[in-house]
Amino acid sequence: MTIVTLSQAIAQDSTNALDSAVGNTPLLSLQRLGASLSPRVKMMAKAEWFNPGGSVKDRPARNILRAALSEGQLNNGKILLDSTSGNMGISYATLGAALGIKVTLTIPASASPERLKILRMLGAELELTDPLEGSDGAINVARQMFAEEPGRYYYANQYNNPANWHAHYTSTGPEIVQQTAGQVTHFVAGLGTSGTLMGAGRYLRQYNPEINIIAVQPDSPFNGLEGLKHISTAIRPEIYDPAFADELIEVSTEDAYEMVLRLAREEGMFVGVSSGAAAVAALKVAADLEQGLVVTVFPDAGYKYLSESFWEKLP
Ligand code: PMP
Repeated sequence: MTIVTLSQAIAQDSTNALDSAVGNTPLLSLQRLGASLSPRVKMMAKAEWFNPGGSVKDRPARNILRAALSEGQLNNGKILLDSTSGNMGISYATLGAALGIKVTLTIPASASPERLKILRMLGAELELTDPLEGSDGAINVARQMFAEEPGRYYYANQYNNPANWHAHYTSTGPEIVQQTAGQVTHFVAGLGTSGTLMGAGRYLRQYNPEINIIAVQPDSPFNGLEGLKHISTAIRPEIYDPAFADELIEVSTEDAYEMVLRLAREEGMFVGVSSGAAAVAALKVAADLEQGLVVTVFPDAGYKYLSESFWEKLP
């Protein structure tokens, strides 16, 4: 038996309690949503809002911070700088606060007011960018700020940083295999940076090359699916390989909004709009199957989107 003294326990705990709470999220069954499917088809979703920062982005943020710390990139009070549509910023700010690292973010001014408030509460410095230029505008401003003051910042660059997809390769992917006892047949994930799809997808394909990997994007560059990119027309993330997925499904904003309401009312899952898009695509994939286990990822909860007017327009 190993005896741990109280001071050892406290020392271990204080190294990083919050950091170690990331991942190992529940895999929830979508039973009512899949009621009309063949009885041998199941749909499940990773409930990523269970992460301490409230979204899937805790996984890459933790990995990027760990990699930067171990390479000494954040020495001498350097500030972590990145562009974000909101969730990655919240994850950086949450874990950065826990680790004593300063965070500066470029973010479209159109990000939901809830997100901007949360980021300010967590102590992040914000540089608001042109809403008309979306996430690409935020990327360009971050690049410019880094070019002007390279000694001040560590530019984490989530779109090009391999620690982003590695996080999913080492956590999301293995968790899905373990939680489905290896039975997963289809993996469906929305595209933002593409870290979730590329990382978990690579792990799953290595585990079993028969597993189908399906990417999801909005059906237009102008959409209400915060967190997702119309990757076909946006600045392509370096970590994204367009030839990787077996299929690319497009989802409309309206269909995703309706699905958000169905998930809330039929499954008790109050999720964000990108989860709605993922569920629309997962249901489409599942409807064509005789047999299979379709796993998707629900990146965050719905609370940050309550100021959006679509809630009122829904029945
Ligand atoms: N949904 C939401 C709500 C997000 O914030 C993100 C990250 N931008 C994604 C989906 C996409 O995740 P990834 O960056 O791993 O492609």
